[in-house]
Amino acid sequence: MNENTVNEENKRSLNFIEAIVENDIKEGLNDGRIQTRFPPEPNGYLHIGHAKAICMDFGIAQQYGGLCNLRFDDTNPSKEDVEYVDAIMEDIQWLGYQWENVFYASDYFPQLYDFAVQLIKEGKAYVDEQSAEVIAQQKGTPTQAGTDSPFRNRPMEENLDLFKKMNEGAFPEGSMVLRAKIDMASSNMHMRDPIIYRIIDHPHHRTGTTWKAYPMYDFAHGQSDYFEGVTHSLCTLEFVVHRPLYDWFIDQLATNAYRPHQYEFNRLNLTYTVMSKRKLLQLVQEGLVSGWDDPRMPTICGLRRRGYTPESIHNFIDRIGYTKYDGVNDIGLLEFAVREDLNKRVTRVSAVLDPVKLVLTNYPEGQTEQMEAQNNPEDENAGSHNILFSRELYIERDDFMEDAPKKYFRLTPGNEVRLKNAYIVKCTGCKKDENGNIVEVYAEYDANTRSGMPDSNRKVKGTIHWVSTEDCIDAEVRVYDRLFAVENPSEEKDKDFRELLNPDSLKVLKNCKLESYLKEAKPMDKFQFQRLGYFCVDTDSTADKLIFNRTVALKDSWSKEQKKQ
Ligand code: ATP
Ligand code: MG
Repeated sequence: MNENTVNEENKRSLNFIEAIVENDIKEGLNDGRIQTRFPPEPNGYLHIGHAKAICMDFGIAQQYGGLCNLRFDDTNPSKEDVEYVDAIMEDIQWLGYQWENVFYASDYFPQLYDFAVQLIKEGKAYVDEQSAEVIAQQKGTPTQAGTDSPFRNRPMEENLDLFKKMNEGAFPEGSMVLRAKIDMASSNMHMRDPIIYRIIDHPHHRTGTTWKAYPMYDFAHGQSDYFEGVTHSLCTLEFVVHRPLYDWFIDQLATNAYRPHQYEFNRLNLTYTVMSKRKLLQLVQEGLVSGWDDPRMPTICGLRRRGYTPESIHNFIDRIGYTKYDGVNDIGLLEFAVREDLNKRVTRVSAVLDPVKLVLTNYPEGQTEQMEAQNNPEDENAGSHNILFSRELYIERDDFMEDAPKKYFRLTPGNEVRLKNAYIVKCTGCKKDENGNIVEVYAEYDANTRSGMPDSNRKVKGTIHWVSTEDCIDAEVRVYDRLFAVENPSEEKDKDFRELLNPDSLKVLKNCKLESYLKEAKPMDKFQFQRLGYFCVDTDSTADKLIFNRTVALKDSWSKEQKKQ
């Protein structure tokens, strides 16, 4: 789609940013050039919210024959690290995108410094020696003008000298800042002499100890866009109020008609999780999850480890779309997207997570048969594989009930079920230990009901899955649930978000029995465990000890549970 036009058919589905871009191209703005950037701060791992921004930034460039750069917004050395830089690059590529160039805001520190000096010389910036608290108090309120700092009219030479010394490390952190001199009575609080430089006494992961004065986000972002030639600077709605300041700086800097323009779309918020990097970092640092890639995390690497595919994430983001209104998206929609994608592509296998033995008392001892199992009924080219059938099998513990209610269509004495891909069996009873726990279930098979036999089409109400005790492998299965127990953890302002974690978000099942077809499964391989859900091999898995993660259950059992309560 490397053309500067989009065909009429697609027009209907244009989001508002695409409409703006198409209009700009039509009007010949910037000679039709389209350039975007994705600007993460390398202070944490990317999450599903970032994926929404990535799809927008890279997507627009792709769609309109433009280019998208990756720019690390690395203006706060005390929080940033190369570990994050590397992880961010990996995640963007996994989502299927490739940047044109990698830039760092820190590459522009010299230009930004010079620009600050220019503003001082023009009487548009001054060094303020007041504390952050006093500066904040003087800002006023949206309906009340702010108060001028006593340093606002400091002579230009003095400002130049102090700013230079700030950067040389002559003053401690917090002792002074550089502020733009704009308008203390502006209706936009961000225009009331915003801080543009502060002192940070911490080595930077790229520039080391060269700088002691660091630009604020607002002073770095738009200018970086300008230096790079960005045409459409796409970000989230909380930056709407920053836009006048963005434009003001560019106006001071620009020498010709070119201007980058900022446009804002709604953030992605998801139910049952948090999206703030600060909170996610806290979960990691306090060991409340196993790491940034814990499969319960909303991070890209967490979702990847959980078994999500890039396609499922793209589908989800396409579905929720881009608007100008903030809201919260249902995590069920993300789960729906991965279920839909995996349904089309993964092999069906049999796995018993909570095994109990089923003995077919009329099946000859020592006899075995190979049963054909279709790999994927959704895909006729997917083929099939064999699964060994024998007299003793494992079935799920909850597929048997001694005293079952009427509508229980699984194994209960006197009841018939089909064993998936094999025979119809009739339950005859069970054996219990001294504590009343069921240790074996008994049934008789009907030899005429196997595929190809006369009664193979005989219908019974229930079908259950099984594996042969003679040909199965052991595995650990990690069953994940929502990370938080409440729908909108960020809204519960009076509680610490850590108290809202779901205590049952991880269940480790150590005694699972899988069909031997899974013996060679490698980390990240994905399967449907029949009747249970989608599972993928965890990165901790080894040939000796297979470990699976549950990506998502087959149906949305969660919302059903909620309705019952
Ligand atoms: P923090 O959580 O520390 O405030 P951030 O989420 O703003 O950080 P950045 O690294 O600054 O993270 O974000 C990079 C880009 O991703 C920005 O353009 C930002 O607007 C976008 N972005 C961040 N979070 C979301 C989200 N939840 N939905 C959509 N876009 C997002
Ligand atoms: Mg940010």
